[in-house]
Amino acid sequence: MSGHARRRLHVLKFGGTSVGTAERIAWVARRSAASARHERTIVVVSAMAGTTNLLLKSAQAAATRDRNWCEAVKEIRRRHTEAASSLLSVGEQPDFSKHLEAALEIFESLCQGFEMVGEATPRGLDRIASIGEVISAELLAATLRGRGVQAVAVDATKLIVTDNRFGDANVLPEPTLTRLRQRLLPLVRRGVLPVVTGFRGATRDGVPTTLGRGSSDYTATLIGSMLAADEVTIWTDVDGVMTADPRLVPGARVIPRLTFGEAIELAFFGAKVIHWKAIVPVMESGTPLRVRNSFRPATRGTLIVPGGAGRSAVAAVTAVPRVQLVTVSADRSLGPVELATRVLGWLDSTGVHPLLLLQSSAENSLAFALTHEEARTLPGLAQQLSSRHGRDGLVLHSSEEVGLVTAIGSHIRHPTGVGARMFSALARRRISVLAVATGPSGQGVALAVPPKSLVAAVRAIHREFRL
Ligand code: ASP
Ligand code: MG
Repeated sequence: MSGHARRRLHVLKFGGTSVGTAERIAWVARRSAASARHERTIVVVSAMAGTTNLLLKSAQAAATRDRNWCEAVKEIRRRHTEAASSLLSVGEQPDFSKHLEAALEIFESLCQGFEMVGEATPRGLDRIASIGEVISAELLAATLRGRGVQAVAVDATKLIVTDNRFGDANVLPEPTLTRLRQRLLPLVRRGVLPVVTGFRGATRDGVPTTLGRGSSDYTATLIGSMLAADEVTIWTDVDGVMTADPRLVPGARVIPRLTFGEAIELAFFGAKVIHWKAIVPVMESGTPLRVRNSFRPATRGTLIVPGGAGRSAVAAVTAVPRVQLVTVSADRSLGPVELATRVLGWLDSTGVHPLLLLQSSAENSLAFALTHEEARTLPGLAQQLSSRHGRDGLVLHSSEEVGLVTAIGSHIRHPTGVGARMFSALARRRISVLAVATGPSGQGVALAVPPKSLVAAVRAIHREFRL
């Protein structure tokens, strides 16, 4: 006989707070082991909460001769050793310590280098940024082995091949697929449970890169879709994707079911629960994606699937505070298409992800919205745009910051009146709308409002659509 029916393949991802303490790691180990008993399982982990920030902040400070990184080394050693001493037997601890010290040594020597040259290079920072993942993967794998599970830590620099855009690298699909098939799948087939580091990748030559802050979700969905998993579960610290940020809207509730299209809009426009990049691969492969709370595993979370969800027009409202609207206009010597080409080319070269783009041929202008963080790359904009074509009457206006409120739903375009209802809900509360955008896919309407009105606007729209 040709063997058993194919067993399900399930990718589980655990975020920073889900592996934030020894107790949480013990829970993650139990959960992973339980999954591995009845289905083929791959685990992806983040660094223990706070580790990535600490690494990056102190490494950057090292370049200004701030010696805080020495404290960071101690702190990271202390937290992980403490967790290890409660999770691992005395016999298992030395092996884990070796991995911990090797990771810290990389951190130390790079910080010394940054200190010496007075500069922290993107390439150097990327070597450091994800060592928290290396440590947590080793710790979880050791914990699992101690509980009789055949687990092994796998460094994603051996799996995920990227270009060299350090800090936000792009994955190269073909070599990555080859490596996943050659290096990860055989482990799973042999009944080994791999614990893969999230967030990390490497160039073809093996230089470590990262996939963007918060991108461990993406590591998990990428692996899941490339290996045709039956499901990917993101274990996080909230109950699922919600109708609004519960800190802004007290009546917000969990959405049981969403489409990929809705989820990507939500993630892009400020829902923190999942990284927008993470939706892309599963959207392409149609792999179901579940978001669940590791602190409340009895709750069901949100299931994200292809197709129409068949419910009311608006599924959720998001808020993005501190958004910069930038308008570039040109005199008539530059056609609208040329203007757009120039601006988009520049945006591409900086690697920012504009929240939206608005274009007017009549005014010969183009506007885009950037988050506050990304807008910091702006000072070079005027210069870069004009330097290529000399004097052609390009004018750049950067607005005051605005807040962006979006209504998202897969049926927004069809029932008439979603936009009108949003406007009148805001008008009744005397909130002015500074800009409007809807995407060609018709899954979201975004309104720019004064920053001080953002919370009121989100509440008004949440109420208007009875979310
Ligand atoms: N630890 C990384 C970060 O904090 C990646 C992640 O958690 O997804 O950005
Ligand atoms: Mg994290």
